[in-house]
Amino acid sequence: MKKILITGGAGFIGSNLTKKLLDEGSFVICLDNLYTGSMANIEPFMADNNFEFVRADVVEPYYFEVDEIYNLACPASPPHYQKDPVFTFKTSVFGILNALELAKKTGAVLLQASTSEVYGDAKEYPQRESYFGNVNPNGTRACYDEGKRAAETLICDYIRKYGVKAKIARIFNTYGPNMDKNDGRVVSNFIVQALSGDDITIYGDGRQTRSFCYVEDLIEGLILLMKSDFSGPFNLGNPEEFTICEFADYVLELTGSKSKKVFMPLPDDDPVRRKPDISYASLKLGYAPKVCVRDGLIKTVEYFKKELLG
Ligand code: NAD
Ligand code: UDP
Repeated sequence: MKKILITGGAGFIGSNLTKKLLDEGSFVICLDNLYTGSMANIEPFMADNNFEFVRADVVEPYYFEVDEIYNLACPASPPHYQKDPVFTFKTSVFGILNALELAKKTGAVLLQASTSEVYGDAKEYPQRESYFGNVNPNGTRACYDEGKRAAETLICDYIRKYGVKAKIARIFNTYGPNMDKNDGRVVSNFIVQALSGDDITIYGDGRQTRSFCYVEDLIEGLILLMKSDFSGPFNLGNPEEFTICEFADYVLELTGSKSKKVFMPLPDDDPVRRKPDISYASLKLGYAPKVCVRDGLIKTVEYFKKELLG
């Protein structure tokens, strides 16, 4: 039986990945400090003999005999990662160092959850892996963006210097069940606002774009990358692109909500146009997202309806 460590396993993506890997018959250790994750997300696995929860912080070294490591621990929503920027930076940098040291000692294969934020406010469109990015190193997003960029640097140096088996997934905006209703990202904000009859908060003029990937498709990509012979970096996401205004209208239509759209100040350094070029992942990994945004949103709305009732 394969033994797999997921750091950040109690978070949104981590808990969905845990479910998939347990279903595949693996033993899963979830290491999480519950900074943005929750026990509710992993509650369904607690009775499973193939699941173990360890409450710990990735900033401190840890040791487990495992075959694979998915390093997901890091707050991902801008309000959460900006709340304590020094902690966010340490989580990325010390977190990946500790994961790489474990991979070096045990021979485990390591997959890093990197991000489209490494491209910053991209001047190339759509974003390809070969683009070096346009990140403001002094801005309020830098704790996250530069932390993830530094993590990629360390991974590549550990591969070159020590022959560690490590992989980089650059994840684009992903949504779905197990997102926290107070997470602060656009998908959860708009759905929760629409279902509660609150104003839909559009930051800036709403002409900035994002491309949205359903969590099942993302997880498929992560597992394909883990099983492959490639290190990446690979873009993983769904190229279906919306302006934020179009996305608000879409959520209003799907929920049948009468909420009003209100315009609020645009956060600093908010990327203007984001869409992944996934041709490299498609060619090398056979990655192909299957869930269109409409179907993914319907499932996500159902999840949030239950969350708001419960
Ligand atoms: P999330 O906030 O739901 O999950 C992050 C998890 O990491 C939480 O359970 C949190 O408690 C845990 N964590 C944070 N700091 C920690 C620390 N120092 N030690 C131990 N645990 C810690 O976010 P998510 O959307 O599930 O994101 C998971 C990973 O994927 C993150 O690394 C994020 O940067 C990356 N990512 C996500 C997206 C997305 O759209 N969801 C996009 C790009 C990259
Ligand atoms: N956004 C918005 N209203 C919200 C939350 C976010 O208009 O209530 C915008 C945000 O300014 C950004 C986009 O939606 O342009 C995506 O934001 P999110 O925080 O989900 O992720 P990002 O891609 O910026 O990390």
